[in-house]
Amino acid sequence: MSRKKSDECVKVVVRSRPMNRKEIAEGFREVVHVDSKRGNVEVQNPKADRTEPPKSFTFDAVYDSSSRQTDLYDETFRPLVQSVLEGFNGTVFAYGQTGTGKTFTMEGVRNDPELRGMIPNSFDHIFTHISRSKDQQYLVRASYLEIYQEEIRDLLSKDQAKRFELKERPDTGVYVKDLSSFVCKSVKEIEHVMTVGNQNRSVGATNMNEHSSRSHAIFIITIECSELGPDGENHIRAGKLNLVDLAGSERQAKTGAAGERLKEATKINLSLSALGNVISALVDGKSSHVPYRDSKLTRILQDSLGGNARTVMVANIGPASYNYDETMTTLRYANRAK
Ligand code: ADP
Ligand code: MG
Repeated sequence: MSRKKSDECVKVVVRSRPMNRKEIAEGFREVVHVDSKRGNVEVQNPKADRTEPPKSFTFDAVYDSSSRQTDLYDETFRPLVQSVLEGFNGTVFAYGQTGTGKTFTMEGVRNDPELRGMIPNSFDHIFTHISRSKDQQYLVRASYLEIYQEEIRDLLSKDQAKRFELKERPDTGVYVKDLSSFVCKSVKEIEHVMTVGNQNRSVGATNMNEHSSRSHAIFIITIECSELGPDGENHIRAGKLNLVDLAGSERQAKTGAAGERLKEATKINLSLSALGNVISALVDGKSSHVPYRDSKLTRILQDSLGGNARTVMVANIGPASYNYDETMTTLRYANRAK
């Protein structure tokens, strides 16, 4: 049976950020052209001669530099969050080179209604839905973790030095042992959880931008709904929403990494390529083996990737000519995930 595009379990969208002041001041050319209507993005190789046609890619949706946070939310994220409210699992990834807008897309500027990102918009969506429901009781819990060098840190734990282990149980599958989770009864409460986690994330990081470019942050919201069924019994359904700000996808080698840095880079590349392999196996649908076990990231997300779960991957790119190689690498990665 063929399914409508909007029902597909993996959706890949591209977002190109605006040129920044520095890029404009230094006279860089824009090499990315986005056609939102056709879902098409074209990239001109700045080193090739002008007669060479641009490379062209098509995605489920593409967003240009003028796209608003609410455009992405309403078209791309809302249906996924809605399905989590209905008891399914879902995952949103922000992928891309450092500086292209992953954190802007996921978190944005939280106290600005226009610039708030996907995560704060999902808080509003979830609690508005709950406040309007009549016959259901909801329980919302939040967890927040980070994967750095294949080690798991609980961003809500009192002990930030502790590393957390992955365990597996036949009934519940893979889980992070002792990961804390907080019951949240309002937008305010869940925002507070996020603030605490972000503060912990920056503790010990001498340069936050550098740290976030090397680690994956996963904000997890579980939503349980209980409802009286026609049989007079209470029925509980649970959905899980994973909101993932991935490590920067840039190839670290070109910055002359050595020692610790090189080890770090290898691990980032490993988990991003493991994720690419998992998604591509899922999309392909023909592979009997989905290689979840290849990284902590894909193991943690195993129950929320594939099956009945929905996934949205946002590939963030920069439009300037000097980013051409990284932009192409990101688009190829995203293209494989379609
Ligand atoms: P990343 O998390 O991928 O490293 P950031 O989200 O921190 O990148 O974005 C880098 C800079 O670009 C930030 O100053 C951010 O505010 C800005 N930026 C990114 N995307 C957009 C956008 N779509 N519109 C306006 N500014 C953006
Ligand atoms: Mg970031």
